[in-house]
Amino acid sequence: MRILIVEDEPKSAEYLRQGLAESGYFADLARNGIDGRHLAENCAYDLVLLDVNLPGLDGWGVLQAIRARGDTPVLMLTARGMLDDRVKGLDLGADDYLVKPFQFPELLARVRTLLRRGARAVAPGVLRVADLELDPGRYRAFRAGQRIDLTAKEFALLHLLMRRAGEVLTRTQIASAVWDINFDCDSNVVEVAIRRLRAKVDDAFEPKLIQTLRGVGYVMEQRE
Ligand code: CA
Repeated sequence: MRILIVEDEPKSAEYLRQGLAESGYFADLARNGIDGRHLAENCAYDLVLLDVNLPGLDGWGVLQAIRARGDTPVLMLTARGMLDDRVKGLDLGADDYLVKPFQFPELLARVRTLLRRGARAVAPGVLRVADLELDPGRYRAFRAGQRIDLTAKEFALLHLLMRRAGEVLTRTQIASAVWDINFDCDSNVVEVAIRRLRAKVDDAFEPKLIQTLRGVGYVMEQRE
């Protein structure tokens, strides 16, 4: 587990870094908002501990940069316990908020909670549309709880449709994404693959999830 600490006050920063290291975490330290943003954008962290009052760029700015890129858990640390700050932090996408001065065990408890939550959210990566499920990590698909056997191409096609559920995909887009080549316009490779996939994931089930838009392409969605 790798944690980024963004804190300008040297004593607090070192106290946090050392405490986390003793608890078994790798912690990087940024002493201002600019460095904090740079590290957050260029390294993969499991959690960011973020001070609000920082030189260069304040904690809100760093938080916005982190949220623009993803959902890394962020715990805001601040001396200001004002309700406004708390609301602002949560509005901007902070996951939790700790007012200084705090006891290290309390910080550690919140760190553990956020890391657990993050691990749960990221690890499965399971895609769902209605009762259709696809687990890319374990290379499995289920409909209504039943395991569905798919060929590699069928799996790639289903993954594409589910990843972009609700979006109309043209035959050309599908062909280049799944087969990595562009077929002739009159090729029916995509139609054939869709038909085979439907036979496995839609034919025996309701509602139908793979929809055809005549002359345009296909979309994965549940229709009323
Ligand atoms: Ca500060």
